[in-house]
Amino acid sequence: MLSYQHAYHAGNFADVHKHLTLHAVIDHLLRKTSPITFFDTHAGRGLYPLEASETQRLGEYRHGVLPLWQAREALSDEPLLAGWLEAIAALQSNAGRLERYPGSPWWLSQRLRRDDRLQLFELHPAEHEHLTQQALPANVRRIHADGLAGLSAALPVATPRVCALLDPSYELKAEYAEVAESVLGAMRKARHAVVLVWYPLLPAARHLELLERLRDGGLRKIWRSELTLREPGEERGMYGSGMLVVNPPWGLDERLAAAMARVTPLLGEASRYRADWWVGE
Ligand code: SAM
Repeated sequence: MLSYQHAYHAGNFADVHKHLTLHAVIDHLLRKTSPITFFDTHAGRGLYPLEASETQRLGEYRHGVLPLWQAREALSDEPLLAGWLEAIAALQSNAGRLERYPGSPWWLSQRLRRDDRLQLFELHPAEHEHLTQQALPANVRRIHADGLAGLSAALPVATPRVCALLDPSYELKAEYAEVAESVLGAMRKARHAVVLVWYPLLPAARHLELLERLRDGGLRKIWRSELTLREPGEERGMYGSGMLVVNPPWGLDERLAAAMARVTPLLGEASRYRADWWVGE
């Protein structure tokens, strides 16, 4: 039985990294008019009230989105961060207060154009129930099913372009390999798809299995970015957040580097950001 609930972690530094990357990728993709089918294989609830008892219990957003929100005036000269923070501001009922943090379904659905499509998969019954209560546009489908199998079954699609976010909780060790196989399978069916994969950086370094399987599977153009809070091994638990982008849009690397140079000082002295090609052209 699944036990992970994203409400305990909503708005943490990993969400900042993941959703800023997602926001930037969507920006780039929307520069062309041809329609896109988006997939969110592990959707979660979609929207997180920060006052919820689950979110307050760990209060991770206080070391994630909150310092950025508090610095939003100073960050308004950084284009990617300014747009990202404006999107969050538009979601608040009281403009000055950060009360709700948006999950990936929200980041994806708010920018859908008429001919774009979005499929949201969520396997946890209660999380899926929350997701069904969100007001989302008509071209969004919410599916109570396994997202990796759902992605595979849905490809190829009718739209010229595809973008998928794979954001599992990695509760089971096997998920690193399953995600890699799923990405390899998806790329065989949709060669030009832009695929984003989130992974945790933990002392056990299990993410290397995911990365190595993708490289050994012959996939090209895999860009990797990692945001860390501290050196590995200093403490137990997640010390960083990783994102892979397969077929990254041109210019993504520079835009995120510029934004992250402003983010890391707000996350603590030891926070670092780095990005490179895990596998090049
Ligand atoms: N993507 C969300 C966001 O950025 O706001 C957070 C997702 S959370 C890290 C992972 C979610 O995947 C959980 O809600 C969990 O219930 C769900 N989940 C776990 N296994 C799944 C599966 N095989 N298929 C679909 N959803 C799954």
